Amino acid sequence: MQQSFKGNKSFLPSKICVVCKREMTWRKSWTKNWEAIKYCSDACRKKGSKA
Ligand SMILES: [Zn+2]
Repeated sequence: MQQSFKGNKSFLPSKICVVCKREMTWRKSWTKNWEAIKYCSDACRKKGSKA
């Protein structure tokens, strides 16, 4: 188990936007709801929720 946030400041979690498939990097404002983040932006959120 070498994956740890401690001692590895350059590493930030990231995930792929479900709409544009771009990688989005963790933002501080997402701390609380990181698990629920699916879209990189409001534009993608609108596209994604339209379906
Ligand atoms: Zn997106």
